[in-house]
Amino acid sequence: MGRAEGRTGLNLEDWTRRILAGEIRAVARAATAIENNAPEAAALLAAIERHRGRALVLGVTGAPGAGKSTLVDHLVRHYRAQGKTVGVLAVDPSSPFTGGAILGDRIRMQDHHADPGVFIRSMASRGWTGGVARATEGIAALLDASGRGVVIIETVGVGQGEVEVARLAGVVAVVLVPGMGDGVQAIKAGLMEIADVFVINKADHAGVGELEREIHQEAPGVPLVKTVASQGQGIAELAAAIESRSGQPRRRMERAGGFEIDHLGIAVRSIDSALRFYAGQLGLALAHRETVEQERVHVAMLPVGGSRVELIEPADSESSVARSIAKRGEGLHHVALRTARFAEAVERLRAGGARILNEPRTGAGGHTYVFVHPESTGGVLLELIEEKE
Ligand code: ZN
Repeated sequence: MGRAEGRTGLNLEDWTRRILAGEIRAVARAATAIENNAPEAAALLAAIERHRGRALVLGVTGAPGAGKSTLVDHLVRHYRAQGKTVGVLAVDPSSPFTGGAILGDRIRMQDHHADPGVFIRSMASRGWTGGVARATEGIAALLDASGRGVVIIETVGVGQGEVEVARLAGVVAVVLVPGMGDGVQAIKAGLMEIADVFVINKADHAGVGELEREIHQEAPGVPLVKTVASQGQGIAELAAAIESRSGQPRRRMERAGGFEIDHLGIAVRSIDSALRFYAGQLGLALAHRETVEQERVHVAMLPVGGSRVELIEPADSESSVARSIAKRGEGLHHVALRTARFAEAVERLRAGGARILNEPRTGAGGHTYVFVHPESTGGVLLELIEEKE
């Protein structure tokens, strides 16, 4: 870890300790390292990985001009009044100049600059690139691990961004305003699908009833809150709706039959050599490394969109992965699907006569899983993982 030390003058262990203690300067430096994809960022993210998962991660997205920033500012005030610490990550993929982000920060900081309970970071870029996605995920993880009670990811709903936000956030609020011309039809299907809560902001304008009807028709059963953010109206109601949706299985997962691709497992002789391609050349970020004793493997996880690539290296020649490599060479080893209804799915497979290779057990990242034999699945070793709420 001498590299991290040389670059920043901070020892990685020390830096990590300060982040976990919530020290603002250490967190701010880490956010900058992650945003710049500095060499020490991957090591930092790996070090904080197991400390995340406690924050309420809230995604706020919607069309440009919907008043998201004002809404977020009022939500921050609301959470602060409850004594919760807040981290805000504002991503604007439609603004190519970082100057815009800095200006945005200054305006926001005027309100919150004296309050160490609020940490705000803005990023601007042209388009939602892999780099923006990586930085967003990394900084959200950082804020979570640093002990923020609430982490808000605010972004303009333009393309890939909302998909990323839906993946990272526990609750997604989609902000719409009346009088959007073609109304909800004009909003991309993607934006409608990811909403856990709808917000009609500027609800003092004409056309509220019409928009409300359209939303109910398009997304029945999803809570809808009316706000006038500029006057702080409806904020407590919005916070209550967010609270009621946190910890619930995601609607988009239900729509996908309850499954998502968690990762693709690739058997390699050496993780370090494979990383030269996946991290060095392809540019994926290494999020996590560990050894899974019971499988006798070392694994490395590299996030890709909503899922991950898992590099698996046999820890010894007795590992089944070692036998697989000896037989078939390196290559795709298994496909892993994740579901919140894990027990139900295993039950269904058993009842249908699928060949399940093990009793549910806990593996990499503390997840419960089973393997299903390729003879039941069309020739692919299938790993089924329990989605943790
Ligand atoms: Zn796996």
